[in-house]
Amino acid sequence: ISTSGDSIRRRFLEFYALRGHRVLPSSSLVPDDPTVLLTIAGMLQFKPIFLGQVPRQVPCAATSQKCIRTNDIENVGRTSRHQTFFEMLGNFSFGDYFKKEAIRWAWELSTLEFGLPSERLWISVFEDDDEAFSIWHDEIGVPVDRIKRMGEEDNFWTSGVTGPCGPCSEIYYDFHPEKGYSDTDLNDDTRFIEFYNLVFMQYNKNDDGSLEPLKQKNIDTGLGLERMARILQKVPNNYETDLIFPIIEKASQMANVCYALADEPTKTKLKIIGDHLRAVVYLISDGVIPSNIGRGYIVRRLIRRVVRTGKLLGIKGDGAGNKDGTMLPVLAERVIELSPQIDIDVRARSPRILEELNREEIRFKLTLDRGEKLLKDMLDNALASAQETGTVPYLSGKDAFILYDTYGFPVEITTEDAAERGVSIDMKAFDTEMENQRRQSQAAHSTVKLTVENGGDLTEKIPDTEFLGYDFLSAKAVVEG
Ligand code: ATP
Ligand code: MG
Ligand code: MG
Ligand code: MG
Repeated sequence: ISTSGDSIRRRFLEFYALRGHRVLPSSSLVPDDPTVLLTIAGMLQFKPIFLGQVPRQVPCAATSQKCIRTNDIENVGRTSRHQTFFEMLGNFSFGDYFKKEAIRWAWELSTLEFGLPSERLWISVFEDDDEAFSIWHDEIGVPVDRIKRMGEEDNFWTSGVTGPCGPCSEIYYDFHPEKGYSDTDLNDDTRFIEFYNLVFMQYNKNDDGSLEPLKQKNIDTGLGLERMARILQKVPNNYETDLIFPIIEKASQMANVCYALADEPTKTKLKIIGDHLRAVVYLISDGVIPSNIGRGYIVRRLIRRVVRTGKLLGIKGDGAGNKDGTMLPVLAERVIELSPQIDIDVRARSPRILEELNREEIRFKLTLDRGEKLLKDMLDNALASAQETGTVPYLSGKDAFILYDTYGFPVEITTEDAAERGVSIDMKAFDTEMENQRRQSQAAHSTVKLTVENGGDLTEKIPDTEFLGYDFLSAKAVVEG
């Protein structure tokens, strides 16, 4: 049986189709929901049904949902299991089946369909969910040693500050069963991987944080496609699965390095490229254009990180001898080649995607070159004066802020570079500058509200003056009052 990413996706959907689920398409990465910026889970497109706001079309459904989680950006390449872009396979019940069936099917899928040895599977349940515990133990036969009761942080799932939620139960795969039953932290990335989360969605969380029972009991699940691929393909991390590795191979070739022989920092950089390229291609395909606000700023940040990382890896130009060329379109083409089963529309949209990436890369390189020169001077000075005075080298918050605010230089790069050279930054002073700036610009713009085409909001920190190519064409200024 094939263990390719494409076939795992297909086998999951067929498994649930055979059990009465309607297979539905992924929804856009831009949700029709003001409480979240991007689609973070498969349940989002069904939220109104869970809340009883619209009638269900079918009793139960299964999807493979494109997701973006920016909260995992720092984990990319550092843990073996987190990307910013991933596909979440999910089965959903809209007031139809509940815990018993959800648990039994998840177990059958894992052990029979995907053939995972049952003695390698560990279970978590919400601390006081005796019902789920007993289904796992008494009906499925999982020994108590491998069922862990966990707290709210891990086992009570909410899609946002408000909205449908409930206790959940997760399935973990054990890479090192020989380690036995002591020292069993399920979040230990070197031993376990969480791959399937079953949410028993029975409450709505209100604005004041109180829980109100939903009219019907629902099931919402998520199984990470790349995680299952990683387990079945027996590779050390999600990035080396056939879903992502071809992009990494392309980037390695452009950087003239051999992935298998590369050191860890180099591998991490290649993983960042592999992940972020998928994220930006699918975001742009779903209509999110680089800008300085809301979702557009997320794409911009991801793109900047890739360009910067590519530069650190020594990729020049388009990586094929054209020094004035750009690397993003070349890498994006590889993402697009891999896309048909993930999203059928991406191929048709590729000219637009490549064009946006090309434009943004050119724009950012100018910013980057200028900022890097300035930062290098600042760090040289900091080190020199520290040596003179025998003190610890540091960069003032004000200088870091000038780089960010006046030169549009990403503050993440400033902190990374400074750390690399052993210079600390007064981030408290930086935050104060930022706060002052924000207050000033709020006062100046108190009558002007900016909205983006697709309803993005202004919750992100916005650099007020980006020195080069500040693109406000995609944003409409609406004068209120
Ligand atoms: P973790 O604890 O590993 O961060 P999670 O508990 O945050 O995962 P859930 O919110 O339960 O994840 O999402 C359901 C499933 O989606 C997970 O069990 C996992 O298989 C997958 N998943 C979640 N976040 C990521 C990610 N950043 N990259 C890849 N897959 C993910
Ligand atoms: Mg997480
Ligand atoms: Mg978890
Ligand atoms: Mg989870």
